Amino acid sequence: MDCLFCKIAAGTIPVARLYENDHVLAFPDIHPQAPTHILVIPRRHIASLAHATPEDTPLLGELLAAAGEVAKAQGLENGYRLVVNTGADGGQTVGHLHVHLLGGRAMHWPPG
Ligand code: AMP
Ligand code: ZN
Repeated sequence: MDCLFCKIAAGTIPVARLYENDHVLAFPDIHPQAPTHILVIPRRHIASLAHATPEDTPLLGELLAAAGEVAKAQGLENGYRLVVNTGADGGQTVGHLHVHLLGGRAMHWPPG
């Protein structure tokens, strides 16, 4: 499968594996937008949140729980932001579901 994040999950493209379990994997974003910028992905290919089905609901829970664990491990006691860019209007550029974990600075609202 010609998917960047599937290749990362499979280990074909090496990354710093900050957290992983049977279902999800976390690694640093290559173009960080904050002092801490980590991506959490399902190992299994799901193109976007819009492509998730009801049977993916436990996996979506795994993604959020993993993001929370990684935030804790990164010492983001002051808070952080999770972002799931979805589709063209959402600004999604990689077609494999991922949660951005951003922290280490104050975030702004509304987002761009
Ligand atoms: P999105 O724009 O929400 O689809 O996010 C995709 C993210 O993947 C961007 O923040 C990119 O910087 C990041 N990215 C692209 N290629 C890599 C890579 N090889 N390793 C880590 N992060 C990547
Ligand atoms: Zn994929």
